[in-house]
Amino acid sequence: MADQGCPTKTCSTCSEAKPLDQYYSRKNNLDGLSGQCRKCVCKQTSSWFQKNKDRVNAGKRAWNRKLRREALEAYGAFCQCCGESAREFLAIDHINGGGSKHRKSYRNAGNYIFLWLRKHAYPKGFQVLCHNCNFAKSHYGGCPHNEQQRKVGVPSQDKIAPTRAMTNESWAG
Ligand SMILES: [Zn+2]
Ligand SMILES: [Zn+2]
Ligand SMILES: [Zn+2]
Repeated sequence: MADQGCPTKTCSTCSEAKPLDQYYSRKNNLDGLSGQCRKCVCKQTSSWFQKNKDRVNAGKRAWNRKLRREALEAYGAFCQCCGESAREFLAIDHINGGGSKHRKSYRNAGNYIFLWLRKHAYPKGFQVLCHNCNFAKSHYGGCPHNEQQRKVGVPSQDKIAPTRAMTNESWAG
């Protein structure tokens, strides 16, 4: 077999005889090496991820939904302004605005707001608002549901920046 003095091993997948350094070590195997060469292991791993991409993503989505549901329930599960209780419409609102600086810290942690809230045991300073009320609050400074703010009036449409609403949508899971 190893007529060049260099020991080889035949890969169980591609059936090529390759030098031992082309195999990962596997303590459980008799020769202490993987039955497949590095190349084949690598191929198999990436094809597993390809095949299971949907399942992996579905798992992530389910996890995000769970986080979202938990957070909404922790804060009352209905809009604090209009009482909307359809979860699809609800979002977590930072009561004092929080601003982009705070939101950035969720990003820096690599997490969305729901994970952040969970980690911090659902701290005070947040509330549940429906997207309508949340949008009104962040773009008009108050919701039309609130009589006092209605008197102030609303700015014209062209002053609306879509950023906040879009961010909330991505939190919606
Ligand atoms: Zn191979
Ligand atoms: Zn509302
Ligand atoms: Zn409202």
